[in-house]
Amino acid sequence: MISTVMPNYKRFNIAFEHGEGLWLTGTDGRRFLDFGAGIAVSSLGHAHPHLVKAIAEQAQRVMHVSNLYRIPQAEALADRLVAHSFADSVLFCSSGAEANEVLVKLIRRAQYKNGHPERNRILCFHHAFHGRTLAMLSATGNPAYLEGFGPTVDGFDHVPLNDIEAVKAAITPETAGIFLEPIQGESGIHPATPEFLRALRALCDEKGLYLGIDEVQTGIGRTGRLFAHEHAGIIPDVVSSAKGLGGGFPLGAVLAREELAKHLTPGTHGNTYGGNPLACAAGLAVLDVILKPGMFDQITKVGSRFGDMLDKIVADFPLVFQGARGIGLMRGLHCRLPVSDVVSAVMNEGLLCVAAGDNVVRLVPPLIATEEDCQEACSRIQRAAHTLMTKQEKNA
Ligand SMILES: *Cc1c(COP(=O)(O)O)cnc(C)c1O
Repeated sequence: MISTVMPNYKRFNIAFEHGEGLWLTGTDGRRFLDFGAGIAVSSLGHAHPHLVKAIAEQAQRVMHVSNLYRIPQAEALADRLVAHSFADSVLFCSSGAEANEVLVKLIRRAQYKNGHPERNRILCFHHAFHGRTLAMLSATGNPAYLEGFGPTVDGFDHVPLNDIEAVKAAITPETAGIFLEPIQGESGIHPATPEFLRALRALCDEKGLYLGIDEVQTGIGRTGRLFAHEHAGIIPDVVSSAKGLGGGFPLGAVLAREELAKHLTPGTHGNTYGGNPLACAAGLAVLDVILKPGMFDQITKVGSRFGDMLDKIVADFPLVFQGARGIGLMRGLHCRLPVSDVVSAVMNEGLLCVAAGDNVVRLVPPLIATEEDCQEACSRIQRAAHTLMTKQEKNA
């Protein structure tokens, strides 16, 4: 008989009873070092006192009121995101896919209002991931995710990442904008090069297109900057955020320049939960920690040391791993053995990580991780790699 929870996830047979910092304790008493962070979400780790207090206090006052009224917590959070980014204005929502939907709506609406209703197609990239709503499935373009969910939403074209000539060749009079992740996360930690991002910016300026960046996974400090596009020194037109923004509370945001945001006039878009007092109190508490002076330097330093440790693991276990990549606290280990075997072996050593595409183990710990935490994670990965090697030798 079917489980009462729909079977759309293949789940590990473990449930967690509580967490503290980077550690999770299972209902069976097992302890795990969490380098998955609920897929790059728990940016402050588990049960962070400041986040817990902010949520509890806000819940006691008022949780939800709807966007029919002013919401001071949303105004404060928008002010802070604007103060620390390229953006002039922010819209709140509850997930990454929803943020991306709004990002596309903003690009299309702005082109329409600029007198270009024919410019309504969005240029996306192979191996992208933008979420699972109907339109974002089309933006993602992965045939495996689309099967049986047709008719597909029209308006998205795809070209290879980091190929500026392919981008130029794919632009038509109907192209409204270009949309990409600065580092493709779900498909295996594939970065867009800074040169490519700068070339896209220049191309958008030249052709009157908008540049949209999906920072759902890369944003809110993950790469050592508030947003990963900052590494390339570009100014986007619109950026989506979610995952780490709420630190575990469902919260998404769309940050845009005034030129786009001004077209989202009353009645053009709405959402019941977007920016409610509780979600925004969580977002403010996360930013209190992430925007603390020195935090980005710490993430950069710890991340870089973590990268060195992972390189050493690759060198020590060339039959298990073929490379390490990533930036800040968004890292990937490219496996030779099937990634599911590696994730299971690592979990047996008490370390949580996340499988990604291209046979990559994704390591995206809470942003409060220390060098010692990374060292501990690497010891466990080494033990797992050793076990996998021993098994291989026995089978050979
Ligand atoms: C996770 C993710 C999404 C989807 O976010 P949801 O909150 O699951 O809808 C979109 N884009 C990127 C880059 C992501 O990593």
